[in-house]
Amino acid sequence: MPNTKGHTLVADVSSCFLSEPVDVEKYGVIYGGVQKNVGPAGVVIVIIREDLITDDVLPGTPTMLKYKTHADADSLYNTPPSYGIYICGKVFKWLKKQGGLGAMKEYNERKAKILYDFLDRSKLFRGTVRKEDRSLMNVPFVTGNEELDAKFVKEAKAAGFENLKGHRSVGGMRASIYNAMPIEGVEKLVEFMEKFEAENVNA
Ligand SMILES: *Cc1c(COP(=O)(O)O)cnc(C)c1O
Repeated sequence: MPNTKGHTLVADVSSCFLSEPVDVEKYGVIYGGVQKNVGPAGVVIVIIREDLITDDVLPGTPTMLKYKTHADADSLYNTPPSYGIYICGKVFKWLKKQGGLGAMKEYNERKAKILYDFLDRSKLFRGTVRKEDRSLMNVPFVTGNEELDAKFVKEAKAAGFENLKGHRSVGGMRASIYNAMPIEGVEKLVEFMEKFEAENVNA
């Protein structure tokens, strides 16, 4: 958590939404698109402190983009995407059945550790984020050689691993391991990376 020195903390938590417990009281606004951990694209969930729901918005803000509009209408100002919300409800129930967000955190930590431990001992791959800042949800890594990165992404795709190409602004690789990714998926990826390493180190 950043030290905001008394300023209101506003967070877009889309990436890590419902992947671990959050102390809601520390935030002024928590904003999250549901499309990564919770449900289908098209729904966002906003948790906002009551005193921040006001008419004091930037001049020209459309009615539709004011939180007060939605709060006053119980989130029914327009027709909401009910099917997406229904699926989110299913996921909330599933999360409870897993043991809640504490249990999800424990599972996600175990899951991410498998990949980070491999990256830390690999002779070919390395993680690109400082240890203390590592994400449980997105694991960026590189070989240090762009051609080899491209070869890895191509061979991984052929082996059935999707979307390992890194974000367009940073390159390399990125494994997204959101709530829906089981531990077995990460184990398979590490197996594949070990094989790729054996075939390509000193090659
Ligand atoms: C993923 C993400 C977005 C964008 O989501 P899209 O699915 O690409 O629309 C925005 N903000 C944060 C923090 C995210 O993690």
